[in-house]
Amino acid sequence: MADMPEFESEMHRTAVAQLDQVAERLHLDHETHIRLRYPRRALVVSIPVRMDDGRTEVFMGYRVHHNTALGPTKGGLRYDADVNMGEVTALAMLMTWKCSLMGLPYGGAKGGVRCTPRGMSKRELESLTRRYTAEIMLFIGPDLDIPAPDLGTDEQTMAWMMDTYSMTQGRSVPGVVTGKPILVGGSAGRREATGRGIVYVLYQAAHSLGEELKGKKVVIQGFGNVGGVAARMLWRDGAVIQGISDFQGGVWNSQGLDIRALDEHVKEAGTVAGFPGADAISNHDLLEQPCDILVPAATGSQIREDNADRIRAKIIVEGANGPTTPEADAILRTHGVLVIPDVLANAGGVVVSYFEWVQGLQFFFWKESEIIARLQEIMTRAFTRVWNVSKKENVDLRTAALMEGVRRVADAHQIRGLYP
Ligand code: NAD
Repeated sequence: MADMPEFESEMHRTAVAQLDQVAERLHLDHETHIRLRYPRRALVVSIPVRMDDGRTEVFMGYRVHHNTALGPTKGGLRYDADVNMGEVTALAMLMTWKCSLMGLPYGGAKGGVRCTPRGMSKRELESLTRRYTAEIMLFIGPDLDIPAPDLGTDEQTMAWMMDTYSMTQGRSVPGVVTGKPILVGGSAGRREATGRGIVYVLYQAAHSLGEELKGKKVVIQGFGNVGGVAARMLWRDGAVIQGISDFQGGVWNSQGLDIRALDEHVKEAGTVAGFPGADAISNHDLLEQPCDILVPAATGSQIREDNADRIRAKIIVEGANGPTTPEADAILRTHGVLVIPDVLANAGGVVVSYFEWVQGLQFFFWKESEIIARLQEIMTRAFTRVWNVSKKENVDLRTAALMEGVRRVADAHQIRGLYP
């Protein structure tokens, strides 16, 4: 975007272009539309860390609040070698639409640190996390902005963030992050929430198509939090998981992988690669195998103009954020592939994060069965709403989901007016 050089990146261009299209469909007034194109505020920090070998390395970190019309901001923290300001800003915008679509009282935010967590020791990661938290201290808080785990971060990262924030306040503040370990204020069912949400959305999609998930052939890219939970649940429910991959490679068995045995293998080997009883397959080839359901649950831009033509899945459920580029989306549409978009499909994580935040503010915790029932209800309702809009407006599910998400935020802006 020539008018936003600070955020120049492919992902940001895509996010803004998507907003522009939806704004036109919704006939948004110009003032509201242009306000939504910009993040509310963005912070860049440098993070010096003493590494184990005695050197000091400096990492770049970001935290972006895209929109606060519906409430405090919410969004994950990502540790990855590709993190940049444009990507974080685009992801923050997606979070705004996601929270709005799911009916949560939040605006969207995102954070990131450019680093390679796999190559760092636990002590180095702790130092990085604590210093990053200190640098963004004024940007976060239980009624301001509430981070959560994302790619490359986990419960431990959130515990360090919560502890660092709490130390500066002189009291425990569990509500400052979500996705914490249960012992220090986390919620039952948070770890599984995103994967679970994907499966609930798939159930509803199958129901809308008059089909069932049992026996469906499934391929999953990424065997981390999201891909792993989705794989286990779908496997238990009778789907045939033919292929799974992680950053080191993939495994394939057309009769179906034994996910429990695969879990045992990953515990030992640290990767799915080399799993006995399956053939090796590259990440590249994995995506192009014929299947009923493809779940990209790793990183962004995996389905692009140069491979979309060869994708032979009937349904794509976006576990990852932004796994499909707009060019690929157009190709998939002409091939009749049903794409269930990220803002809907992977929203289970932020929904249970919301439950965790509410529980933390009240110091009153719910049973896992309550969490699961409420999550299923919210996911199913959101899918049905998006499905109905897509039929009524004759648009794909991504456009329908964004229309629903953007509309609520735009309405909130109109009601609140423009300060001063
Ligand atoms: P994770 O770090 O737990 O797991 C990521 C998995 O992807 C790992 O198995 C890793 O080996 C694999 N991977 C990484 N790069 C890859 C590549 N180039 N090719 C193939 N596999 C690769 O992360 P996660 O929490 O499972 O997140 C995965 C995706 O889901 C991200 O895009 C994230 O933004 C999105 N997401 C996560 C949550 C959540 O609650 N964790 C919520 C919404 C969206």
